[in-house]
Amino acid sequence: MSENLNVLTSTQAIIHEALNKLGYDEAMYELLKEPLRMLQVRIPVRMDDGSTKVYTGFRAQHNDAVGPTKGGVRFHPGVYEDEVKALSMWMTLKCGIVDLPYGGGKGGVICDPREMSMGELERLSRGYVRAVSQIVGPTKDIPAPDVMTNAQIMAWMMDEYSLMDEFNSPNFITGKPLVLGGSQGRDRATAQGVTIVIEEAAKKRGINIRGARVVIQGFGNAGSFLAKFMHDLGAKVIGISDAYGALHDPNGLDIDYLLDRRDSFGTVTTLFENTISNKELLELDCDILVPAAIENQITADNAHEIKANIVVEAANGPTTAEATKILTERGILLVPDVLASAGGVTVSYFEWVQNNQGYYWTKEEVEERLIKKMVDAFDNVYTTATTRNIDMRLAAYMVGVRRTAEASRFRGWV
Ligand code: GLU
Repeated sequence: MSENLNVLTSTQAIIHEALNKLGYDEAMYELLKEPLRMLQVRIPVRMDDGSTKVYTGFRAQHNDAVGPTKGGVRFHPGVYEDEVKALSMWMTLKCGIVDLPYGGGKGGVICDPREMSMGELERLSRGYVRAVSQIVGPTKDIPAPDVMTNAQIMAWMMDEYSLMDEFNSPNFITGKPLVLGGSQGRDRATAQGVTIVIEEAAKKRGINIRGARVVIQGFGNAGSFLAKFMHDLGAKVIGISDAYGALHDPNGLDIDYLLDRRDSFGTVTTLFENTISNKELLELDCDILVPAAIENQITADNAHEIKANIVVEAANGPTTAEATKILTERGILLVPDVLASAGGVTVSYFEWVQNNQGYYWTKEEVEERLIKKMVDAFDNVYTTATTRNIDMRLAAYMVGVRRTAEASRFRGWV
């Protein structure tokens, strides 16, 4: 039987198990197995050549019992409805794990920004906001960057919402440029969060980061900042990749050079001839492996070939349920996405708080608060996993879903 690669059904299965372990009944699972709201929109965009193209977009709101929903918007040709639903559920879990007063939301548009001009991207971004405007807002659902969206796109979206709202509304969206009410440290927050959990995981495994061999799949926002942080901590980044291939040097890659040459989508391997495949990259002999790209990269097919001691998921959903089992059985410490990549939404929350107050924090204040959130979250999940003798993913789901379940109960929804 081939493995289930549908991210929605596999997420539902773990949420079910987590709720069972927490003592909740089927009614709670019925509430939480799907988003409360899922809006599909069609967005007409005038292209540079005068033609009109109609794009399909989504916004999912998993559960708002705790507070407004929160989560990014991705622009990617492979976006599909079930994926957006699962991504919104993962946001609920992330917010629960780092204890933010939000539920999970997520959006996506089926498009390829690498093939669009700046003008076309701006019109699509503004069109998306107009299309979902009825269900989003600073106290309802707060978007942010995700795969192939960035601070410029957040700026256009914020401007469009402000025009409709007839009020400057920086708290509508996070991940904005600093001059428009962005937060210090938001651009690097996901990678910083990953770095913090890598340090915690390495302590548990007695690995010294200085000299540790690190492999990172993906050179986008998370992957590229992470390569830099690992390099600066004295680790040897021996492999990186983008959507087109991977680079490997057992003596450590020249990260500063690669960062300098990458384009805005994180593409860099096309400049080199002696590349290896993404599959080969994942199977490299290393201490720490960080999938920081897309879903379903470590599956039942290659989980036995992974040689890392620690796998830290900076991407959303890179390891399947079957692969999680295999890695755990093989004694590999797997730090799951909903914990490892929660640094981004954590600093997004800080950004929203600063926007609401109109008072801005220093880089040091942001960093100090992020470290505390991530270290506490890691401890909480690690302790749950070891005391209950379960894998880190199930432990993270238990920690993450509990608050939304409790809030739903208090509200009398279940
Ligand atoms: N898109 C990021 C994530 O998957 C960040 C979401 C946010 O900042 O709201 O966690």
